Amino acid sequence: MRISKIILYDEPSVPEIQITRLGKFLEEIFPVAVETRENILKFSVKDTPLKIAECKIFNLRRDFEKHNPTEEEVLFEELNVNDTSNTENIIMYDGFRLQKVLSNLISEKENKENIFHVFFTNKLTCTFDCGDYRYHGRALIGANPTLISTTGIIEAPAKPKEYYYDLMANFTQGINVESIKKKYQGTYLEYNDSRLTKVAEGYLLQAIFYYETGEPFCEDSGCRLFNAHWQKDLLDSQIKMNKLCDCHQKILKQIITS
Ligand SMILES: [Zn+2]
Repeated sequence: MRISKIILYDEPSVPEIQITRLGKFLEEIFPVAVETRENILKFSVKDTPLKIAECKIFNLRRDFEKHNPTEEEVLFEELNVNDTSNTENIIMYDGFRLQKVLSNLISEKENKENIFHVFFTNKLTCTFDCGDYRYHGRALIGANPTLISTTGIIEAPAKPKEYYYDLMANFTQGINVESIKKKYQGTYLEYNDSRLTKVAEGYLLQAIFYYETGEPFCEDSGCRLFNAHWQKDLLDSQIKMNKLCDCHQKILKQIITS
């Protein structure tokens, strides 16, 4: 394997990912050592909050333009270094830019090809798609370091179509989001959902497959490498099916023995 060590950086505001459990999950599959650490922001340097605030995006229909943050925005990021739960609204960040800023927090000693770093974050990472000229929320920014956005896991794959129809239909009558949420409860992931750890396993597998083979995804909706655009597909592939397809089982064997 290209990787000989994996370091997982926790997102303590989302304990449902169960970082220690995820470490054990990886150690059972791959012949590598796994270490878990606190949130990557704890390793911030002086200008990290400013650099992070510069990654914010405001116009989904336009490719990245470096944001000139206000003092308040920088202060928010400074407070975030110590407490990531201090987030009320969902803020969108350019995923690749954020990845670059955070990758600078890895020490030179550990910035090596054989050490694979995974940062869990509750920040919503987005990438600009040149196909439809707009930003989309992403759960995974695959690289080394890899970013896995817990907010992206919840917000990026779409909820059932009927959920949105109901929201729109009720809009004119005065919306009651809570009752609609209740109606569809269980069909999509919510914040503080106990299924998050299981789903995070799938994203970890995608990140490692991408690093080892250059190919993160599978076309088979019954495989954990399936790139789910809908919550239903995400839950089906990661929880109901909960396995790799035959083809990826074989590739996994090759990765492990290479
Ligand atoms: Zn597959």
